[in-house]
Amino acid sequence: MLRYLSADYVFPASSEPVKDGVVVLNESGEVIDLLDPNQGLTTPGKIEYYQGIIVPGFVNSHCHLELSHLHGKIPQGTGLVTFVKAVISQRTADEEEVLTAMKTNDQLMSDNGIVAVGDISNNHFSKSVKENSRIYYHTFVELLGFDPEKAETVFNKALKLKFDFAPLPASIVPHAPYSVSEKLFGLLREYSESHRNLCSMHNQESRAETDLFMNKSGGFPDFYKMLNLDLNFFKARYQSSIQCILPLFSAKQRTLLVHNTYTSPEDIGVASASGKEITWCFCPNANLYIEGRLPDIDKFLAYDFKITVGTDSLASNDKLCILSELKVLKEYFPELPFSQTIRWATLNGAEFLGIDKRFGSIEKGKTPGLNLIENVGGLELTAHSTIKKLI
Ligand SMILES: [Zn+2]
Repeated sequence: MLRYLSADYVFPASSEPVKDGVVVLNESGEVIDLLDPNQGLTTPGKIEYYQGIIVPGFVNSHCHLELSHLHGKIPQGTGLVTFVKAVISQRTADEEEVLTAMKTNDQLMSDNGIVAVGDISNNHFSKSVKENSRIYYHTFVELLGFDPEKAETVFNKALKLKFDFAPLPASIVPHAPYSVSEKLFGLLREYSESHRNLCSMHNQESRAETDLFMNKSGGFPDFYKMLNLDLNFFKARYQSSIQCILPLFSAKQRTLLVHNTYTSPEDIGVASASGKEITWCFCPNANLYIEGRLPDIDKFLAYDFKITVGTDSLASNDKLCILSELKVLKEYFPELPFSQTIRWATLNGAEFLGIDKRFGSIEKGKTPGLNLIENVGGLELTAHSTIKKLI
């Protein structure tokens, strides 16, 4: 039996919003049609009407489900180096507690209208949750190793973890410029040249990262001293981290650069000229939680880049909710149109993950999931907007 769902607006993400549009779905949630009654398209009598805007299911392109048990445990506003120290000291916990927190928040993400997630993993604990979830997960197995002597060991461990996640989709990715040695980047590049390996990396999340690469100063040298790692192998580069690291990426893979809180206009220009296929991901709530500031998002808009949205983990966020991220963007960048940020949160994420045949927009043949955004002002979010998962 077909279902007919309508609202003040239907925003397909792939095309312009349709006032009083009607989405026709079959029993498996596949879009059969999108009708525009204002253009004389006949609609049947039995329509479910809603107040608000119907949008496709959200794609959360950056999350760490395995850190869900850290909700509320890490202090806010300390800056990244202190944040990372706190996560390291608290991330090991009882396996049952970790699993329960993951299950709960997988369900909450689904309730918040999220249909697909790009999820960072350092261990296999999330596999059973992902296998049984309604959500599509792509797992980014993370490489973490600044000591060049350990590069092979770290890479082989990641390779094994990627196989442990099979048959779920997974790829191997670097954690951040300050935590992956050039040698390890080299091994990843070699691998990415001959394997399909979607890439994602935390980028310029703190000033300390810039200080490390520019002149080997900031918080990271002391941080590595604390971890008993002799940094003699690392020399100041007199360039920002992204300018040093970009040449180390394979040109064959799409790369998601996440956070970009301290990315300068010059860095954006260098990225644009690099010939690498780069998508920028913003996680505004996490940036405010850790560093108390946001990226200069308007500076990215001068280029033809794709942009996506992520929640990051519950170590640095109150909830895993894409609408909540969009509301922060609306608050701090009121000039950003709803139609643009919704595309970041749906179609662009789906395209990055390579799942846009199924997700990301309300188009015939897709099963994108449907969300209703309520308490809106016409076609704009308000501070009171809420999300209701329809399908
Ligand atoms: Zn993250």
